Amino acid sequence: MIDAAIPTAVGATAAGALALGIYYPNSWLFGGVIGHGPRNGNTAYLTFDDGPNPTATDHILETLAAQGVPAEFFMVGAHVQQYPGIARRVVAAGHEIGNHTQHHVKLHVRGPGRIRRELEQAHNVITTVTGVAPRAFRAPHGYRNPFVAAVTQRLGYRVFGWTFGVWDSARPGADEIRRRVRTHLRPGAIILLHDGDGYDPAGDRSQTAAALPGIIQDARDAGYALRPLGDLLP
Ligand SMILES: [Zn+2]
Repeated sequence: MIDAAIPTAVGATAAGALALGIYYPNSWLFGGVIGHGPRNGNTAYLTFDDGPNPTATDHILETLAAQGVPAEFFMVGAHVQQYPGIARRVVAAGHEIGNHTQHHVKLHVRGPGRIRRELEQAHNVITTVTGVAPRAFRAPHGYRNPFVAAVTQRLGYRVFGWTFGVWDSARPGADEIRRRVRTHLRPGAIILLHDGDGYDPAGDRSQTAAALPGIIQDARDAGYALRPLGDLLP
């Protein structure tokens, strides 16, 4: 009876570890991933996923320019093709851009061929449109599997997770988005926000854009310096 239980327990542990690797955005199981900056300083990092977006991204760029704050934009390749001018304005404003796949697919259920195409297509689109080759990758929803690491290594990417998100995609209101960021902020935090919608190129992210001035003000009032995510690259 005991002997029979051992393989089951081992299997459950392995399955648990596998699930952790797939679903936990900062898991190292499928290769190195950066989920936060230095915990002993006063820096934090703004990141925006799923753009470029025809309404929110330019509004966000205006706020960042007015406040002199850098951010990282993890772009969906198909959205870059649809809104190339916006993608170029992000780069022209001096912000960093990352690869967020071509079609915002959940990679953990995909095989090596599709994963390679998703990352390479987005890499080529972003590079061609903006003139800048991304060096950072973030998986949609953080979902990865062993095939993702093989491609990111070959493309020379660092893989980023995040320290906290605030479910701004669910549009809880700009004041609530701001409050959640203020509540969760801590040293080294990589803040996950959304200037776009992974499944709708023109999705409404106006609440996130409207929340941003307050988010920046709160961070500064609390003594934080908002730094570019590239500070965390080797
Ligand atoms: Zn996304």
